[in-house]
Amino acid sequence: MTKSKVYVFNTALKYRKGTWRRIEIKGDQTLGDLDGIIREAFNHDDHHLSEFFSGRVWNSNSLGVIEPDGSGSGDKKKIDELELVKGSAIEYVYDFGDDIQHVIKLEKIVEPVAGAKYPRITSKNKTRNRYCVSCKKIQKKSVATWICMDCTEEERKQVLLCEDCLEDEHEDHYAEELLS
Ligand SMILES: [Zn+2]
Ligand SMILES: [Zn+2]
Repeated sequence: MTKSKVYVFNTALKYRKGTWRRIEIKGDQTLGDLDGIIREAFNHDDHHLSEFFSGRVWNSNSLGVIEPDGSGSGDKKKIDELELVKGSAIEYVYDFGDDIQHVIKLEKIVEPVAGAKYPRITSKNKTRNRYCVSCKKIQKKSVATWICMDCTEEERKQVLLCEDCLEDEHEDHYAEELLS
């Protein structure tokens, strides 16, 4: 039996490219396994559907849907079956309502490390503190832990907020917790 190779993927949020995780998964593991590690890597909760695409989300062939319980049309599809080569990318969407899109790019294929457990997260983007834009206006420095998606869309730049300002000024807005 030939040993399964390991696929090294850079998985990034499509609209926040600075947020990425490097994920390693074996060729005989499945899209179900990949879904599980992506949910873990990006702190997605387990209440929503996800779907893999051969190219752009919604605009290319579906590689399969994964249900919140891990079943679904894609869960048994093996990574090897995708026939990816270095540099190819597939896309992934988590939660059809919030539509959180990810680009999963194959960086390289390597030999497995003895004793390692796959899939695994091997690195991630460096984090730097980002500050609340509201506090900044009054010359105060508070670390931002939220991004107001409504205001970000409207102002066309990231509206990052501390918890207090989010509660005080963006009560009815849709916000997401910042990923580090
Ligand atoms: Zn603030
Ligand atoms: Zn807002």
